[in-house]
This record gives sequence, structure tokens and C-alpha cells, in this order.
Amino acid sequence: MTGVTFELKATDGRARTGVIRTTRGDIRTPAFMPVGTAATVKAMMPESVAATGADILLGNTYHLMLRPGAERIARLGGLHRFMNWEKPILTDSGGFQVMSLADLRKLTEKGVTFRSHVDGSKHELTPERSMEIQRLLGSDIVMCFDECPALPADRARIEESMRLSMRWAARSKAAFGDRPGHALFGIQQGGLEPDLREESAKALRDIGFDGYAIGGLAVGEGQEAMFACLDYAPDMLPNDKPRYLMGVGKPDDILGAVKRGVDMMDCVLPSRSGRTGQAWTRRGQVNIKNARHADDPRPLDAECTCPACRNYSRAYLHHVFRAGEMISGMLLTWHNLHYYQELMAGMRAAIAEGRFDAWEGEFHAQRAEGDIAPL
Ligand SMILES: [Zn+2]
Repeated sequence: MTGVTFELKATDGRARTGVIRTTRGDIRTPAFMPVGTAATVKAMMPESVAATGADILLGNTYHLMLRPGAERIARLGGLHRFMNWEKPILTDSGGFQVMSLADLRKLTEKGVTFRSHVDGSKHELTPERSMEIQRLLGSDIVMCFDECPALPADRARIEESMRLSMRWAARSKAAFGDRPGHALFGIQQGGLEPDLREESAKALRDIGFDGYAIGGLAVGEGQEAMFACLDYAPDMLPNDKPRYLMGVGKPDDILGAVKRGVDMMDCVLPSRSGRTGQAWTRRGQVNIKNARHADDPRPLDAECTCPACRNYSRAYLHHVFRAGEMISGMLLTWHNLHYYQELMAGMRAAIAEGRFDAWEGEFHAQRAEGDIAPL
């Protein structure tokens, strides 16, 4: 036992609710993890992120190893102290971002060498180095180092990549060792091929992990293909461990994933949208840039209890966005993260009370109504 445990409290259809217990606090599932890429959730104070209801943040190994460096963060007391976030942190392995962001990548059996997109310096990431970096950061939930192709990709490429990732998963487990109070999650690969997904799931089950991620989705395949994969992929993973869908997504993606048995998700969408004038509400997406809001004294969402909706008008949010004021990104990010956490809380309650289908119907009905009519 690692000191990180998962208790499944209720199921409704395939949807599950439970709690992951860590030494830094409980994570209520289904959980949405805001992304704190460079040791900050952009435009948010950490106490504000906690106030939205987030139990856990995600940190990016690739960004932090390049700047300010994992050894430096360790010398400064670890990532929690460095960024003033006392609750749990999950770190990704760096594998996905190396492949999407770094320059001059070279992939071998051993790992990946690349040049930093920040300053061109040369680096190497291997399963062993990824485990070391995540240990230096002090991450509570550590992810295996893996590799995944963007979709569409041909079957041979997906198969080869998945088998490499499974060898890296075994090396990650060996390098992680025995670390009480910290969890290591394996990552299922295999693209949209059911037999490759099962081969990957079996390889991971044989190694044994504290939790299992579904990787290689939300990489360009579209919602329909992603849901088709989620119709079978989560059930290949152990029922008594958390299941984490990486990099998802829009509110309706999240709902569809939870409905299919996913327990954890992360995405930059609510924070990134907040900085580009996009708000996510129970009635769908609102573009605050739009001229229709310029004279509108009403809140973004009259039912929302976040500071942006409680204390400001659409006209103000429109004005500060147009004027390029920093408070624009601050308020919209807060609203979006608050909305996402309300969404998760709503699903957790609905699953616990056995009314997930009714909740889902209500979700879609509210969105179908669309935004409030212009004045
Ligand atoms: Zn709000």
C-alpha cells in the first residue's frame, strides 16, 4: 500500500463517485484538475483556485524541468511550497509535451533527447529521469513516462508506440521504487484499436499501479471517436483504482467521460478560454468580446456564485476585455474554473443519488436554451 487509496462510494450505470485519499488531502471523484503549467494556474492566486472547489492541481514536468528546473524547486522545498499550494499535485511525465513542444526531438528505446523551446538547451527525458524529476517536484501522483502519436496515425505506428510505452511503464515502476504517500499511475495507450487497448491494459495490470490513465485520446480524433473508445477502454482497467482521462476537455466531453466510468480529468480549456474572452456557463459558451454585452448590466450567469458573476456586469467584463486589462483574464478564469467545479460537484451528487441520467438530461436542456437573450 502506498498511502494513497481509492474508495468507490457509489455507481450509477457506469458512472462512479468516490474519494482518493492522500497525505495532503482527499480528492473527490469525478475530479477536474486545473492545470498549473509553470507552477501557477495562470491569472489565479492558489487560494482562489482552492475556493473554486479544486482538490488537486496538475503540474507539467516538461515546463518545470526547463524553467526553473526540478533541482532548483527541490532546493526551495518542493513544488507545493514553491507555488503555495498545500493540496495534492499530479504531475504529468513530460512525454506528451516533449513530443508536442520541444525542438529537434530524437526518440530511442532509451528515451527522448530534445532541445528546449525556451532557450535551445539540450535535454534528455527517460523513464528514469522523469521519475527523478517528479520526485524532486514532490508530486503526490506521478505519471509513467510514455509516448503517444497524434491521431490519425496508422496501426503499425500506434502498436509500436504502445509497446514502447509499456516497456517504459515497467522501467518507470522500477525507477519509482517504494515511496509511501506517493502514487504512480500507468497510462493505457493503443489509439482507437480495441485489441491494442486490451494488450496495453493487460501489460499495465501485470506491472500493477495505484491508478490508471487512458492516454492517447483528445489528440485530434474528435468527440465521437473518443466516446466510442471510452465505451470499452475504462472497463479494461481495474475497477478498484482511479481512472484518469488525460487532457479532457469541454464540459460535454467531461460529462460523456464520467458517464463511461472515468474518475479524473484535466484540461487547460477553462483557464485558457478565460484569457481569450470565452466563458463557459450552464447555458453554453459566451463570448464576452461580443458588442451585445457593451451595455448589459446583468451578470454573466445570474445563478453563479463566483466573484465575476456576483460583483460585475457583462458590460464591465466586456469593457475590461476590450481594454486589455488583466482583471479580464482573472475574472473569466475564476468563473470558468468555478463552473467546471460546479459541474463536477453536480455529477458527484447525481451519481451518489442514482439520478445521473436525469442530471444529464437537465445539462443538455439548459445548454440547448442557449445564452440569455440580448436586452
Ligand atoms: Zn460565475
